[in-house]
Amino acid sequence: MSEYDVIVIGGGPAGYPAAIRAGQNKLKVACIDEWVNKDGSYAFGGTCLNAGCIPSKAMLESSELVHRAQHEFATHGIKVGEVSVDLAAMQKRRAGIVKASTQGISALFKAAGVTGLQGHGKLLKGNKVEYTNKDGKKEELTAKHVILASGSSPTELKSLPFDGKQIVDSWGALEFDAVPKRLGVIGAGIIGLELGSVWRRLGSEVVVLEALDTFLPAADGAVSKEALKHFKKLGLDIRLGAKVSGADKSASGVKLKYTDGKGEQTVEVDKVVVAIGRRPFTKDLLGDGTGVQIDERGFIKVDHDCKTGVDNVWAVGDVVRGPMLAHKGKEEGVMVADLIAGKIAEVNYKTIPSVIYTHPEIAWVGQTEEEAKKSGRAYKVGSFPFLASGRARAMESTAGFVKVVAAQDDDEILGVHIIGPMAGELIAEAVLAMEYSASTEDLQRTIHAHPTLSEAVHEAALNADKIAIDFPNR
Ligand code: FAD
Ligand code: NAD
Repeated sequence: MSEYDVIVIGGGPAGYPAAIRAGQNKLKVACIDEWVNKDGSYAFGGTCLNAGCIPSKAMLESSELVHRAQHEFATHGIKVGEVSVDLAAMQKRRAGIVKASTQGISALFKAAGVTGLQGHGKLLKGNKVEYTNKDGKKEELTAKHVILASGSSPTELKSLPFDGKQIVDSWGALEFDAVPKRLGVIGAGIIGLELGSVWRRLGSEVVVLEALDTFLPAADGAVSKEALKHFKKLGLDIRLGAKVSGADKSASGVKLKYTDGKGEQTVEVDKVVVAIGRRPFTKDLLGDGTGVQIDERGFIKVDHDCKTGVDNVWAVGDVVRGPMLAHKGKEEGVMVADLIAGKIAEVNYKTIPSVIYTHPEIAWVGQTEEEAKKSGRAYKVGSFPFLASGRARAMESTAGFVKVVAAQDDDEILGVHIIGPMAGELIAEAVLAMEYSASTEDLQRTIHAHPTLSEAVHEAALNADKIAIDFPNR
């Protein structure tokens, strides 16, 4: 029986950083992961590296370049003739990026002294772990601490079950081998918008059916409004308040049936991506009598420090409460590995950034204006359009704005909302500012290089006090 200080079950962005930090803390650690790719190969990295964050960003980048070559190069005075897409080459690039990223984890494990075990892990009573290797051989391992990081899986729509061909999840939609002429997307959430954008830019007619009447309700209202305008301009046919009731499949396509304010509707497409959210994944993870509790939505119950309530059993990432984001899981994993080593560690859940990697990109951290209003605390708002940024104009990327929400009483920054070029990079400054409880005055007094996009964050902070320089204050 092998004995470890720490066993991590799950090698995604929550589990593998936990294992690496435990190794850095000089603990004897193993990380068990069962992910199998479509070619039958095992790989660490979980959903994010194999089928989520990384391949989607690869395809977003490629498809955005196609779009720019078709619609923007001429403005720069660049003539390229007819732009065509070699999807097989594009997909090969995506697969190569995924492979390099997942193989990198094995090297990181080696450097940190982590034992990587490929196969299934199951927590047993008394903090033991049953490990079933690739050949089906079972072994009982013991550990002083077990970290559960089993992640999530896509939610299926009962009336539209996945068939892997015409009705697919996000993984399937990332690996299409031909551009669908007509693509249906169920859910105008992050996946729906990112993947809808990819295939629209590559030539699909894309219809997005969203059950809610409001678009992107988690984002600041002004950002959602601006975003909807740009997605429509791209050609995404977003239908809000559309509740899907079923589908008729045939060799020629899928007839989606839905109801909206006007009654029963249908739309015919070739393929459908169902992107209506993800569920925590705990299948065959817990043996009898472990004492680990699952809540009514399927999440493993944990406290603020990711303790499950069972001595020395922890859980992190998508399988526990909070936003299903790779960086949230990573920080939880690292925190737990540090707490196990007796160090002080905490995750600040108030400063987790959200990014939607579309064009324009959308990013935010902290309270929206609507949330600030609801809180009852007096607040002020500053904003700055990228249209007034010299760098954005040079980049031919002037859509969108930066918006800062701050407290009226002590000037503390409550939230920052960006829609525009490199929003996902620009938000890091706001996250750092909020992590240090900075005020708008702190941002105002910070020197931003010229000409950079980050000046828009500076100017938005100045505009909160109506002292912006490069745009009329209102
Ligand atoms: P996972 O990544 O799901 O990893 C869990 C791992 O545990 C898997 O490898 C699984 O096989 C393994 N496992 C489960 N049970 C067992 C078991 N019993 N034994 C052994 N192994 C087991 N987030 C972002 O922050 N940014 C993005 O840009 C982004 N883009 C995304 C795009 C798409 C299309 C999708 C689907 C998701 C995206 N996400 C993004 C979300 C992100 O992928 C998840 O939040 C993240 O992967 C969660 O990490 P995790 O480690 O908790 O779980
Ligand atoms: P989501 O929660 O972002 O969006 C799901 C959308 O589907 C919602 O707008 C919801 O109202 C809608 N919906 C639900 N049921 C529906 C129905 N029956 N018919 C029509 N619409 C319906 O979920 P997602 O887009 O599937 O993404 C899953 C998770 O992955 C998210 O939690 C997200 O955090 C994560 N993710 C993050 C990124 C990123 O950080 N850039 C990218 C992709 C995914």
